[in-house]
Amino acid sequence: MPEDLHARYGRQMRLPGFGEPGQRRLLGAKVLLVGAGGLGSPAALYLAAAGVGVIGLADPDAVELSNLHRQILHGAESLGTPKVISAAETLGALNPEVRVVLHGEGLAPSNALSLVSAYDLVVDGADNFATRYLAADACALAGKPLVHGSILRSSGQVGIFVPGGGCYRCLYPAMPDPASVPTCGEAGVLGATCGVVGSWMASEALAVLLGRRESSGLVLIEVAEGEARRLAIAPDPACPCCGRAPTIRGIDPAAYEAGCGTMNPEACPMEITVEETRELLGRGAGVVLLDVREDEELAICRMGATHHIPLGQLGERWQELARDARILVHCHHGGRSLRATRFLRSKGLSAVSNVKGGIDAWSLRVDPAVPRY
Ligand SMILES: [Zn+2]
Repeated sequence: MPEDLHARYGRQMRLPGFGEPGQRRLLGAKVLLVGAGGLGSPAALYLAAAGVGVIGLADPDAVELSNLHRQILHGAESLGTPKVISAAETLGALNPEVRVVLHGEGLAPSNALSLVSAYDLVVDGADNFATRYLAADACALAGKPLVHGSILRSSGQVGIFVPGGGCYRCLYPAMPDPASVPTCGEAGVLGATCGVVGSWMASEALAVLLGRRESSGLVLIEVAEGEARRLAIAPDPACPCCGRAPTIRGIDPAAYEAGCGTMNPEACPMEITVEETRELLGRGAGVVLLDVREDEELAICRMGATHHIPLGQLGERWQELARDARILVHCHHGGRSLRATRFLRSKGLSAVSNVKGGIDAWSLRVDPAVPRY
């Protein structure tokens, strides 16, 4: 082995059971990273630093200012640049011996199987369920190991799915309604928390490449509490993907449509406060206040110029709403309007938010002139 490899990788090669054979395995390995964001950033940095020979980057997004507090592959000079390009520059500067392959179109139903098949391992840090399930299904179908990570506030999880050991769908058989799960943009997240989970993903990816993972598992990490535990995963005979009678036998694009929307969840959270509502309404143009209460309730009070569709009629009348409008939905206390918000999002209207607490909170905190009932 050339001296300069010892100079660069000697500290990890010195680990028990690693040595020159371990380093050779990493140098010969090809890893596909799905998502060059909060989790993909630390994962990619550590995989490149460790000398993984080929790193593929699949991400269709460009760098935004709100990314920088956690997506440490990208710097301020990369704002507006495709993430794959920004990431390739950072990784190249860190370790020029690593070959970085760019897949700027991201992981899509049309390319998932061929892309995944070209790599030894997939590391998935995608921020949406459609991509997460697509990566998981493609890995299971192609017989490739998957290291998956996700995060919500200060909780993270890292899944390790090896062929034959149980797949992502053994744990989570069906994709949830994306509107029912808050994203990082909605829930808030610390960059350092992404660092913990993303680094853990890199560590598991290296363990898989080094042949140290023979069974699937799930690591649950509570960063704020300083706790982590590892659960074993067994293959589920009823799994729709890897079970005895699988229903998923290929990549059907329609199965991944939900959640593939172009909306920026950071701009349109699922719920907003009445104070935020007042501010948005003050901006005027393009903001629609949708009241989903009944006629009798409307007769008692209203929040101003509203578009009125009772919840029970939304199913047949939702197309009255402009698809690109910023829609704020309210009812009496916020329950019916949350259902309406989820319904409209499921119809592809992405800029829809529920007004938390409804007109009652509005009356209490914004405009006491509005009668309560
Ligand atoms: Zn399975």
